[in-house]
This record gives sequence, C-alpha cells and structure tokens, in this order.
Amino acid sequence: MALVRTQGLTILSPGDPRLRTMRCNNPLVRLLTLAAMVLSLGAISPAAQAHPAYQTTQVAPGLYSFGAGMAFNAFMITDDGVIVMDSFDKEFAEASLQAIRQLTDKPIRYLVYSHNHYDHISGGEVFKAQGATVLSHEAAANWLKSHPSPDVVMPDKTWSGSRYELKLGHGAINLLYFGANHGEGMTVFQFPHEHAIYTVDLVVPKRVGFAYMPDFSPREWERTLAEMGKLDFDQVMYAHNAAVGPRASVAEQLDYLRDLRAAILAELNKGTPFMKIPNTVKLPKYEKWDGYEEWLPMNAWRILLEIAMGV
Ligand SMILES: [Zn+2]
Repeated sequence: MALVRTQGLTILSPGDPRLRTMRCNNPLVRLLTLAAMVLSLGAISPAAQAHPAYQTTQVAPGLYSFGAGMAFNAFMITDDGVIVMDSFDKEFAEASLQAIRQLTDKPIRYLVYSHNHYDHISGGEVFKAQGATVLSHEAAANWLKSHPSPDVVMPDKTWSGSRYELKLGHGAINLLYFGANHGEGMTVFQFPHEHAIYTVDLVVPKRVGFAYMPDFSPREWERTLAEMGKLDFDQVMYAHNAAVGPRASVAEQLDYLRDLRAAILAELNKGTPFMKIPNTVKLPKYEKWDGYEEWLPMNAWRILLEIAMGV
C-alpha cells in the first residue's frame, strides 16, 4: 500500500483524533481546539475548503483506492483500459477521473455499481462520457428502473446470479452477490490476483452500524460477512472511514453485530421491557468505535425489530 497523491485540504474523518478532542467535555479544551482549527484553516481559500483532501492509494500494482473520509471508490488499471467501481457524485467522479488521468491515459472501459443506493452511484455520466460501459447486478438495475434518479446513469449491462468474472486485459475482478443483505444487488468486488476485496457499506472499519442501519437486513448481513470471511484476500478496501485495512476487519464487523444481537437477546431473556431495551444495551468493547454513543441505540432498535417482526 503506497500513498500516491494528496491534493487540497485535509478534512476530518469520523475517526480523526482531533474530533475526539472536540467531543471532550471540558469547554475550555473544546474552545481552544476549535480556535486552533479555525486558525489552521485561515490560510486556505474558500474554494480549496470546499474540496476534501482526496488521496489515491495503491493497494496492489494496478489496483487503487481513491477518496477521503466518507467516500472511497476503487479502480483497476489494466493493459486494455480502466475499470472504475462506484462514482458517488459528479464532483467526486470528476476528481476520481482526474486522479486516474495522472496515472494512465488508457480508456475508461467500465463503471461498475456496487448497489442501488444513490449516494454511491450518482455522477456516472462523467465516466459514461469517457466511453465507459455501466454495469450492475440485475437486482440493482431493476430497482433503478422503478426508482430512477436524475443523478444516476442507468446500467448499460447487467449480470445476474451469485458470481460474474469481469476480465479486461490482464486484469480480472470477481463480482460476487451474496443475496439480500443491504440495498439491491449488493456486489462485493474480489481481486484474485491482488488478494484484496472492495466491499461497500458491509464493512466500515471501527464504526458501529450507520444510524438506524437503513436498508440493512441484519441477519442476512451477518450471514454475508461469515461467507465473505471464507474468501481468499489479505486486504480490504472500504467505501467509508478508511481506504484500506486488514482482513480482520471483516470478522470485527461480524463480531460487533453478533455481540449486539446477543446483548439484545440477553435483555429479552431478563425480561427488560421491550421499549427500554435499545437504551439499556451497552457494548463497552466497542465504545471507542465511531458512532458508538449516537448510533448504538438505533442499531439496537433495528436488530430488536428484526427479532420481533422477522424482517
Ligand atoms: Zn448503501
């Protein structure tokens, strides 16, 4: 893994230690920290401040992560052209294209969508204008047909079933579908030659589930993470919180969900009133993870309701 390029202003990711200082209860410390941050930003133009410090990270030869903070996509450069995975939005897509162009002038051959959610696949027209074929799982494409967004380019091609091998030049990506876990047509990208995967939303390192875990089926999510854990890979590329991390992060995400489910079941068995369970459950093992204070009760609601309702 090597850092290729940095541009623009450094933004604070949710895991940034400076944000932890901001959360400190001492008002003087908070004021001084805020003042220091404002001073450090003073020399930067408003235009520069609008752009996060996107970085291109080489995960393996020809395989890259691009982004910052809450948005990282992936791209592969082969001898026959480039495969891009997710576009996020137009501004991100343009920056992503610029980053690719600093490394190669080969054509953009594919833009592959991870799933149907607008926040990951808007702005695809930037790559389509470069001649890219837009590809998604058919479940994502079907959903997009009935829920179109003006910001999302419809897929030109779909794949179906649980596995599709996308080959380009010397490069190969296994597109894997594990069933209904989050959104529609959720695709895990496996890079067999590079021993890496790019997984979107299913693994966010050192963070509890996002808010009330929208469009997640927690039980199926757990099953998927267990199955992903059997794949051959050493590195994990993410869409949120970090560009790349170790294989163990998949198991850590699964442990969190299992521990939360076990804690909820323990409260049910104890006879804790149903409506009180989400605010009763505590998981000190994860208290340093991003979102712990704010989102743990919401995460607990999602799993509790799945236990109670079956969905
Ligand atoms: Zn999503």
